Amino acid sequence: MSILLHHHEVTLNMTDLHYNCVAHWSSGPVRLLCMDMMWEQIRRGAREIMERYPDSRVLGICFPVPLGYTTEKRLSAATPFPAWPRSDFGRSLTEPLQEIFPDARDIIITSDGKAAGSALLHWDFSRYGQGEVATFYCSTGIGGALFRDGQPTTGTKSLVGALGHIIVEPDDPEPCPCGGHGCLERMVSSGRMRERLAAQEEEYRKSCLKEIPVAEMTFEKLFEGSAKGDVLCRRESRYYAQIFSIAIRGLIVSVAPEYVVFQGNFGKADEVFRRELLNKVFEFKYMDRQEKIEFVYDDRDLSMEETVGATYQMINNFLCFPEKYVWKQENVGRALTLPE
Ligand SMILES: [Zn+2]
Repeated sequence: MSILLHHHEVTLNMTDLHYNCVAHWSSGPVRLLCMDMMWEQIRRGAREIMERYPDSRVLGICFPVPLGYTTEKRLSAATPFPAWPRSDFGRSLTEPLQEIFPDARDIIITSDGKAAGSALLHWDFSRYGQGEVATFYCSTGIGGALFRDGQPTTGTKSLVGALGHIIVEPDDPEPCPCGGHGCLERMVSSGRMRERLAAQEEEYRKSCLKEIPVAEMTFEKLFEGSAKGDVLCRRESRYYAQIFSIAIRGLIVSVAPEYVVFQGNFGKADEVFRRELLNKVFEFKYMDRQEKIEFVYDDRDLSMEETVGATYQMINNFLCFPEKYVWKQENVGRALTLPE
């Protein structure tokens, strides 16, 4: 069972060992004002799915969260949910899941970026399964992951991979919830993109975007406009490539990613963005064009990638630690057999 927690939606996807999605449930638009409201939605989804599939047993759970948590999997940050009360901090992210899914033998708490990034290992392990790979998870916020030899790097405070908090513009006035200024995810947020467009009113009216209210603008539409040759869209597309190039330069001097993969919004970036990014990254004179670094644009649906990657992690554990899945008392010593 993959449980996807997004800003305004909770989704449950039940998959089998062959990556088939056998059941899907969505809360629809929802405002989660405290942690208990989140558990309530997950409970509802689990109940509805188990009513539809009473013979199914949920063996593993992967819960990719846009939250900070401690090594004990207790909540330490909830940036997407500023209303959550202080009393929610320190609460367990695993215990309620064990109660909702009593058959579960394995509960993985990970980040949304690590889950979506893990999908690459499923799609093409020979490519992404060795060396260093950096992924950007681009949605409302920006997350990501760093993989080394097919394993996501983790730190004690789940901060490795929080690439949205790489500082790219320290003088930016808007504070980031992390306490910093000019974090990548502030600079390339949808809100900031719309603000920049609104400030260029005259050009906006002349551009191919003129029929779209600024408040409804998305990066996807911006890249579409840029691909069509629109002057304003092209300029903006180049601007975002420049911002990303600063973060990527920071990555290049601290890890040696052979692949840098964009997922979500920027996975659909147009040629103008791609070209500008390459130019900017290679302005760094210590790098030469022979350097093994490839930029990859994963334009698959982000929720699907999160589910595939979550499933990858669960199946990986299932195959690596079969003793965990020993069923009833009388079956001790006999691992669960794989279906045909
Ligand atoms: Zn930040």
